[in-house]
Amino acid sequence: MRFVIFGPPGAGKGTQAAVLSQQLSIAHISTGEIFRSAIEYKTPLGLEAKAYLDAGKLVPDEVTNGIIREALKIPSCKNGFILDGFPRTIAQAERLDLMLADMSLRLDCVVNLVVEEEEIIERLLKRGRADDSRETISTRLRVYRQSTEPLIEHYRAKGLLVDVHGIGEVDDITRAIRSVLVP
Ligand code: AMP
Repeated sequence: MRFVIFGPPGAGKGTQAAVLSQQLSIAHISTGEIFRSAIEYKTPLGLEAKAYLDAGKLVPDEVTNGIIREALKIPSCKNGFILDGFPRTIAQAERLDLMLADMSLRLDCVVNLVVEEEEIIERLLKRGRADDSRETISTRLRVYRQSTEPLIEHYRAKGLLVDVHGIGEVDDITRAIRSVLVP
C-alpha cells in the first residue's frame, strides 16, 4: 500500500500516519519531521530549512523533492509507505509521479482528511509546536489554501482522492481510513 495522507495543518495527518504505519507495517515518511530533526541536529539541511519552518512557509521544492527521492530508497519502503506532508504543491506532485514511475511504482490513493478551519486553529494552538504561534498558523493556513489545496482537485481528477472526515476519536478516524484503503 502506497498512499498520501493529505489535509490542512492540524488535520491529524501525523497522528494517523504513525498509527497506520504500525498497523500496516509500512514506512511513514513525514517531510515536516525530517526538517524538524535536521533543525534539531543543525545539519546543513536544517540550517537551510529553519527560516522557512519558523515563518510557516514552504521549503523550496528542489530541497523537499530531494529529501523524498532519498527517503523512497530506504529499505523499509519496500513494503509500502505513507507520505505525510508531501506533496504540498502541484509541482511536488508531478515530481513524485516521475520518481515513482522511475521505480515502476504508483500511488494507490490520497486520503484527504477533512477538518473545518475553526477546529484546526483550536487544535494547533493547543498543540504548541514551535511553529504553532498565532502568526505562523495564519501563514501556514494561507500557504495551504494557495499552494496545497489545489492538489485536492488534481488528485480527484486522477481518481485517487478519498475524503475522510477527520473529527472525532483517533481510533474511529483510523478505522475510517482503513475502510477506504481496502474497500
Ligand atoms: P508539517 O509537519 O507537515 O506541518 O510541516 C512543517 C513545516 O515543514 C511546514 O510548515 C513547511 O515549512 C515544511 N514542510 C513540510 N513538508 C513540506 C513540503 N512538502 N514542502 C515544503 N515545505 C514543507
